[in-house]
Amino acid sequence: MKEQLLNDVVFGMAARQFDRVADFLGLDQSVRERCKWPKRILTFSLPVRMDDGRTEVFFGYRVQHHLSRGPVKGGLRFHPKVNVGEVAALAMWMNWKCSLMNLPYGGGKGGITCDPRQLSIGEQERLTRRFAQEITPFIGPEVDVMAPDVGTTEQHMAWILDTYSTHQGRFVPEIITGKPIDLQGSEGRTQATGHGVAFLATRALNKLRLPVQGATAIVQGYGNVGSYAVETMNAYGMKVLGVSDISGAVWNEKGLNPDQLRQHVAENGGVAGFPGADPIDPDDMLLQPCDVLVPAALERVITKDNVGQLQCKILAEAANGPTTPEADAIIEERGDIFVLPDVLCNAGGVTVSYFEWVQNLQRFHWTKTEVLTKLETKLNEAFENLLTFCEQHQCDARLGALAMGVDNVARVKKTRGLFP
Ligand code: NAD
Repeated sequence: MKEQLLNDVVFGMAARQFDRVADFLGLDQSVRERCKWPKRILTFSLPVRMDDGRTEVFFGYRVQHHLSRGPVKGGLRFHPKVNVGEVAALAMWMNWKCSLMNLPYGGGKGGITCDPRQLSIGEQERLTRRFAQEITPFIGPEVDVMAPDVGTTEQHMAWILDTYSTHQGRFVPEIITGKPIDLQGSEGRTQATGHGVAFLATRALNKLRLPVQGATAIVQGYGNVGSYAVETMNAYGMKVLGVSDISGAVWNEKGLNPDQLRQHVAENGGVAGFPGADPIDPDDMLLQPCDVLVPAALERVITKDNVGQLQCKILAEAANGPTTPEADAIIEERGDIFVLPDVLCNAGGVTVSYFEWVQNLQRFHWTKTEVLTKLETKLNEAFENLLTFCEQHQCDARLGALAMGVDNVARVKKTRGLFP
């Protein structure tokens, strides 16, 4: 299994990052080995009746990286490229993220290999419910709490909640986060990740002594995270010059209008053809000068081939794993880009998921202002702690963030000891 995981390019990347951190922390062999490998790797075959009467079998995965600090927490992804290695890597990153944010969780991630854009709503519902049914024995509010990720929305979470609750014979909102408000979802959860990205971008601008007002940004990916990052940065007085998604990329030197852009995407399915901007090549867009570059789509988009041409001052990693280790090394060498590493930058989502879970367990409902204020407090604390750690240890932000995350987990493993 180890070899199979290491042969996956995304897991290989997460494992190499971990090894670097473990060396940096001087972890002993036992703790190092126990921190690195996932506790549970679950694979499900999911037969689904399609609209045309055929039965198609999909494959779904859930990786629970470890349960030493609490239930695992992490999203569920629907994408054609989902495989067990990618899911395991994302679970490992979730682990360090929860730990860095001091949330009482381990990391988890799930995925189903499918293209949701090719599935009808009915097919998506049957697929989601089948997955929920198969995974029910392995999850629970104190075991594994899922959330949305690429290709899934609050509607998918509602179907999972309904399937799980039906099995339990009672309403169990604390089984899932990122669900609709009507089903006791949290205020502010939908925009939490993008809001957090924008908030941290302003903190980074402050650190670099650059004005937030009028600061420029470019955003790759206009889904849940990207779209709310665009709106929140705009609300802070920043100017978003370019946005891309799977349909193409658009550019306006004077800044895009976020409300009009959202409406255009709702009506047309993508940013391409937005009348308030000009088209631009999506790869070239990343290389344009700006204060803040926000990759908010998929992994491995900043590579050794394009990193040398980046002209941003801040790289705000909204996506998970957008920068390859080779590109990372070049960024360190360049020394002119302030990196907000993914484990911190996109931690707004899991933090408000945690708030949602806490509200559900207490049967309480906080206001949006309460939620977003608590989120900003937590992100600011993590940001300041990270800067202090990096200064004390003379290390870069990614190494620092991962080291802080891994160190918490390693200490817990050490203190709990090895059973038997
Ligand atoms: P989403 O499915 O809502 O949106 C993904 C976006 O990326 C879409 O606009 C899609 O068109 C675009 N995209 C896909 N391929 C692209 C390409 N090659 N070039 C440009 N755009 C492309 O997903 P999301 O929930 O916004 O997640 C985006 C990233 O943020 C993922 O890496 C995810 O793991 C991470 N993340 C999400 C959350 C969350 O709360 N949703 C939390 C933490 C991290």
